[in-house]
Amino acid sequence: QPVLAVVGRPNVGKSTLVNRIIGRREAVVQDVPGVTRDRVAYDALWNGRKFTVVDTGGWEPDAVGLQASVAAQAELAMATADVILLVVDGSIGATSTEEAVAKVLRRSKKPVILCASKVDDDRLMADIASLWSLGLGEPYPVSGLHGRGSGDLLDVILDRLPETPRDDFGGGRGGPRRVALVGKPNVGKSSLLNRLTGEDRSVVDSVAGTTVDPVDSLVELDGEIWRFVDTAGLRKRVKFSGGAEYYASLRTKSAIETAEVAVVLLDAHEPLAEQDLRVLTMVVESGRACVLAFNKWDLVDEDRRNEMVRELERGLVRVPWADKVNISALTGRAVHKLAPALRTALNSWDTRVPTGRLNQWLTELISATPPPVRGGKQPKVLFATQASTRPPTFVLFTTGFLEASYRRFIERRLREEFGFEGSPVRISVRVRE
Ligand code: GDP
Repeated sequence: QPVLAVVGRPNVGKSTLVNRIIGRREAVVQDVPGVTRDRVAYDALWNGRKFTVVDTGGWEPDAVGLQASVAAQAELAMATADVILLVVDGSIGATSTEEAVAKVLRRSKKPVILCASKVDDDRLMADIASLWSLGLGEPYPVSGLHGRGSGDLLDVILDRLPETPRDDFGGGRGGPRRVALVGKPNVGKSSLLNRLTGEDRSVVDSVAGTTVDPVDSLVELDGEIWRFVDTAGLRKRVKFSGGAEYYASLRTKSAIETAEVAVVLLDAHEPLAEQDLRVLTMVVESGRACVLAFNKWDLVDEDRRNEMVRELERGLVRVPWADKVNISALTGRAVHKLAPALRTALNSWDTRVPTGRLNQWLTELISATPPPVRGGKQPKVLFATQASTRPPTFVLFTTGFLEASYRRFIERRLREEFGFEGSPVRISVRVRE
């Protein structure tokens, strides 16, 4: 999600404008000169486009002087935003502060939009023209009072914002969700597919592919149709021979990448094998949602069960978030638990945390447990935004590098707070220069 940062002296009407942009009145407190307020980030939606608005007001308290503090805002904006909006009080015009900030912003490679606020009176329009002298292009007048001009301004903003990258996984919604059934040879993939599409369940259809396309199976589970991808070989019980491992692994990889969620079949009555871990690694790297199914549960006795618990702790550290179901493709045991687990995983995969809520939570977390000091400096986390879903991907904007252990800590707490069962979560850190 692209980021718009709003920069300006206190009391120029930044907050009113931010409220206009995000389309609500609460949330943002009034600009009070000299009162420090944290940077806040909000989600905005205009003409079907989503972006994040960061109100840089309150950046660095006035101790360093107003001019310096607005310059610091500008620098924060340049480091973190895709587009910068400089707000000037149209009833006052450009002060030396704006001139200084404009000088900083002109060096920026980011697009800068100049906006004159509080233009509630037509007579002010003539004065607005003088703002051209800031060297930031055309000044756009807006009136917080009448809401005039904010639509035009938003159009200009959208025009300059980079295209929202499509959420990682294209293909859109609607249509059956795509599932990859993967696992090492002989773990029971064919048996499970046959069980799922067997007489007692309705086989909806097989989707004929072209000669090069693999063939998918449409299967009804729990009142919903699912598309199991690349199941041709499984349904026909084709076994590979000669270079089998290599091809099986290519095939697994492509199935995972075609799918939205992977069911990783593991053999419950055998120790986790190198091959199992390779499949899991593929799933983790693909960023797809995942359900772990322990098959052949009918062969598992008490001893084996205890052994498994220990094994799992060691072997599945990479996917502690994945749901586990214990099934038997042979007897049909607990196979009905697959669909709910798939649904949970996909919901997590699709989840978007609103920026306001995310930042509120993060601010509390970080003030309780600040990042470890590094090289004598305390990195600050400025704000965060969820850049995409599928899988949920978060970007933290910081003033310094965050240790891997601290990022893992954030991920753990993020999961505690917002769920994400069955889905990987990605966190990246953008350090402001
Ligand atoms: P694939 O290579 O992953 O497709 O594995 P298959 O479905 O061909 O299964 C390999 C072998 O495991 C076959 O002999 C199956 O009958 C057996 N099998 C599959 N699922 C189960 C199960 O749940 N319990 C038991 N006991 N055997 C199973």
